[in-house]
Amino acid sequence: MALRITQLSSGYGKLQVLFGLTFEVGNNSIVSLLGPNGAGKTTTLLSIMGVVKPWGGKVELGGVDVTSAPPYKKVELGLSLVPEGRRLFPEMTVEENLLMGAYTKRAREKARDSLEFVYSLFPRLKERRRQKAGTMSGGEQQMLAIARALMARPRVLLIDEPSAGLAPKVVADLFQTISQLRSEMSVLLVEQNVAVALEISDYAYVLENGRIVLQGTPSELAENQHVKRAYLGV
Ligand code: ATP
Repeated sequence: MALRITQLSSGYGKLQVLFGLTFEVGNNSIVSLLGPNGAGKTTTLLSIMGVVKPWGGKVELGGVDVTSAPPYKKVELGLSLVPEGRRLFPEMTVEENLLMGAYTKRAREKARDSLEFVYSLFPRLKERRRQKAGTMSGGEQQMLAIARALMARPRVLLIDEPSAGLAPKVVADLFQTISQLRSEMSVLLVEQNVAVALEISDYAYVLENGRIVLQGTPSELAENQHVKRAYLGV
């Protein structure tokens, strides 16, 4: 198992947001965490990374307990996060942003190779490598945010809401590329756009009010009455 989360609980101050989540991401697979606004999807990713400190539960990466490792250590161990809102360095070029992603020792040694890898996944970034990140289109910026996280050479990539604010055609292209990542790593994808997420997922969990209320393969979930009504608009 690439990533196993057991009984994860978390929150902010006195506000409990996650109530004992248990789920897993297999090797070379794409798993989605779906759910409405405020369900706790982002909090789940931040708690896995350790940016938000979990209140309880366990995070295992490749069978190793990494729960209490600080975020930079988790990056070294093979977890990488593409945050909501992309968080690029707008005044830096595309390539400078990418190199910022290769900051661990292991990643620095492989930075040249990694650049080639991400440029082959996203040829557009190669064409634009000297352009300032802040002047790129929304779709290009999302590609760059993913590519920057890949520069850390993760085993498990966590992606928060990549479709946010993008046109349907751009989303389709982006998800096509995300789906190719499974040959190299595992992906935990947080999405509100349930239909597109299910298309590329091997398995998915539905999070509501900080609890997993449903799980299954995309075809199982697409047949579920609650999913149809609440998330697919059928
Ligand atoms: P969205 O898609 O809107 O980002 P989400 O499922 O990712 O939703 P979270 O962002 O994880 O949800 O938020 C879950 C709950 O935690 C919400 O009630 C939110 O108001 C609260 N919350 C999030 N961040 C903080 C914070 N830094 N301090 C206090 N409460 C927070």
